[in-house]
Amino acid sequence: MPAICAVEWGYNQFNKDNPNTQERIVNQATTRTISAGVSLPLVGFGTYLIPDEEAADIVQGAVTAGYRHVDTAEGYNNEVGVGNGIRRALGHLGLGREDIFVTTKLWPGNPAWGSPIKGRDDIMASFEASLHRLDMEYVDLYMIHAPFAGERRVEQWEVLVDLKEKGLSRSVGVSNFNEDHILELERAGLPLPDINQIELHPWSQKPDLVAFMLENGIQPIAYSSLVPLSTWRTKEGENSAKTEEMVKAGAHEDSPFKEMAARYGVTEAQVLLRWAVQKGYAVLPKSSNPERIKANFDLFSFEISAEDMEAMAGMDRGDGVAWAVGDPTKAE
Ligand code: NDP
Repeated sequence: MPAICAVEWGYNQFNKDNPNTQERIVNQATTRTISAGVSLPLVGFGTYLIPDEEAADIVQGAVTAGYRHVDTAEGYNNEVGVGNGIRRALGHLGLGREDIFVTTKLWPGNPAWGSPIKGRDDIMASFEASLHRLDMEYVDLYMIHAPFAGERRVEQWEVLVDLKEKGLSRSVGVSNFNEDHILELERAGLPLPDINQIELHPWSQKPDLVAFMLENGIQPIAYSSLVPLSTWRTKEGENSAKTEEMVKAGAHEDSPFKEMAARYGVTEAQVLLRWAVQKGYAVLPKSSNPERIKANFDLFSFEISAEDMEAMAGMDRGDGVAWAVGDPTKAE
């Protein structure tokens, strides 16, 4: 098994002009190596629920603010705008395609929802269509969005492994896979995924799955880190399985995250994102608000104390809630 993720050390670009801050952030990991020669920036920008027509401006703003990792999916219907935003920002910053880490995802199909499971030819067509919409020659990470293909999961994974071998995707991964789903790939004699993108935050910590991933050299990428906030996905149509009781707990004046944020002089969102980064996970905060986009990227200028990390370890409530149908790692 490969040793888990070599760590690169460095300065957070966002703070590089502030010598005082720089002093405090020496020796903080900002990237992880997830495959030979492939470095994953730990702070990525999420784009789910950003409409295609708004994505170019918002993503351009995020890359200009310092994000060097952008996460999209064929299922988000915004790859054209995301690709345009990345290109515009790189052009203005005088950077090249190699300076940014771009992820997109294969929708695997789900017969229960009326979409047939994709086989090899469909996957190749999906991948090429994503590249075309992004207007890119390769992606840095291609992943299977969810383990919905049942008996055909292994067949789907084989195609992603081929895409990596051809250099069309520099790394490949899965999303919402549990231990059993990953062990199927191992039993088929295939290389294990470079990453598994799953819902992770203090209310859904999945300690057994994460331990299994780390033992097997699979880097966690946390999604929906901000679920505990009262401001998380409040607009109409931003469906999830978050309960009324959870909404109230997030909005409560005594929320432990509010108290910690005040103590560290940061926002509650920064506390939740820093929790993940401090545990070695990558994060993908999504926001359409420029001020939030900027603050969500500033995760290396403070550190959560061991005492607070321990208190947060005790806040696990079990399954994730970001998907309206419940946590997709439970799929058969
Ligand atoms: P996030 O955890 O990123 O939270 C986004 C929500 O929080 C939005 O409602 C946003 O509102 C609000 N918000 C953002 N920043 C702040 C802040 N500083 N203070 C207060 N509120 C804030 O949720 P997502 O579910 O979008 O997850 C992040 C990304 O992960 C996705 O965009 C996607 O790329 C990926 N993802 C992957 C999944 C998978 O199955 N693989 C599933 C879900 C997500 P506003 O925009 O108004 O600021």
